[in-house]
Amino acid sequence: MQSQMRNQKRNQKSIGVTILGSTGSIGVNTLDVLERHKDRFHVVALTANNRVDRLFEQCRKFQPAFAVMLSPDAAQQLEQKFKQSGISTRVLSGIEGLEQAASEASADYVMAAIVGAAGLRPALSAARAGKRILLANKEALVMSGRIFLDEVKNSGAQLLPIDSEHNAIFQCMPAGFGNGLEDVGVRRILLTASGGPFRKLPLEKLRDVTPAQACAHPNWVMGKKISVDSATMMNKGLEVIEACWLFGASPDNIQVVLHPQSVIHSMVEYADGSVLAQMGNPDMRTPIAHALAWPDRFESGVQSLNLFEVARLDFEEPDLQRYPCLRLAIDAMRAGGASSTILNAANEIAVQAFLDGDIAFTDIANIIEYALSQVSATAIDSLQSVLAADALTRQVSKEYINRHSFSARKSGQ
Ligand code: NAD
Ligand code: MG
Repeated sequence: MQSQMRNQKRNQKSIGVTILGSTGSIGVNTLDVLERHKDRFHVVALTANNRVDRLFEQCRKFQPAFAVMLSPDAAQQLEQKFKQSGISTRVLSGIEGLEQAASEASADYVMAAIVGAAGLRPALSAARAGKRILLANKEALVMSGRIFLDEVKNSGAQLLPIDSEHNAIFQCMPAGFGNGLEDVGVRRILLTASGGPFRKLPLEKLRDVTPAQACAHPNWVMGKKISVDSATMMNKGLEVIEACWLFGASPDNIQVVLHPQSVIHSMVEYADGSVLAQMGNPDMRTPIAHALAWPDRFESGVQSLNLFEVARLDFEEPDLQRYPCLRLAIDAMRAGGASSTILNAANEIAVQAFLDGDIAFTDIANIIEYALSQVSATAIDSLQSVLAADALTRQVSKEYINRHSFSARKSGQ
């Protein structure tokens, strides 16, 4: 009966979807899933930083009402290309354009898949407008925490996690979660992590790893920033913070478990000792399809899990000496206030400096630790205070990098 009603509702109206960051790894996977369900969805807006050609091709195929490029120059180029090809998509630019795409009345769902702090304002705009937010952009939640959740609550928006671990936890959690795990009979969350490409590398060799090595993740194909975060395990640190906010947990209720096969995407342990796990091939189309279809289920294009090929599942405790960024993130969540905002901003600066060849891999944690010691973790009570802590941390971290002659791999040291 209920599913009949849902089907009737579905037939009435095609669901409008905005994808913030459509040219990235999550954005492309989202379009792949949407294409399998054209009868159910249409694309309202697609956005990108500066990749004109890629966004143009996507717009030609999906014909959104809006396309947004952060850079006004890139927006102008895109507009020109649309004119030449007779495409009627309207082009917007800048952060205001992103906010408009996120809050546009015809968009029912917003995939938040911009990488880093740049995604915060558009994601908040979607929250304020009461959308179903499919949250991939974990940095937005990490840096703004309670402020983000309050916007979601006040507008009646829905927040569905796309991060594979959080989507797994969401699938394993009982109804009514959000105000402490004990309340809903949950003992702890087991957050799985692959350990990245350097899980077995001798510690003394970590200093000399290159960006290309750091970006070669063993199980997932992702954007560069999250790939480096996976190698340092800052990604898991950000995910501990993300899980605390999403599920009303504290870091003490979350055990990070190294699981190199990335087949179990995370687990929930109940008070009676039951442990529920969500499993599947490591393919982001599963969590994306889950959040698009929720509370229904539909095809994602992901192959069935072949357990005979997987054959075994391994688990290890993470070594915090190898992964200092994980420790820094857990400590930041415990410290509260602006600590997570500072951690996130310093990490973004340090990861970019590593990708640019300006610092060594092992300097990433040192820079974050320095920023946390320098910027005061005052209370975060407004978007302005979040943006102020973010901006100050970026400045402090950049100055620190410029002042110190880090190992400067470019000069061959
Ligand atoms: P990506 O680098 O592949 O794509 C990022 C997207 O954001 C691109 O479309 C880019 O044009 C846009 N963008 C970048 N900077 C921007 C800016 N300043 N303003 C506006 N747009 C900008 O990244 P990704 O791997 O798709 O990751 C996106 C987000 O999803 C990240 O927060 C990441 O942590 C999260 N996530 C990704 C994966 C994955 O498998 N890739 C898994 C879990 C979570
Ligand atoms: Mg993840």
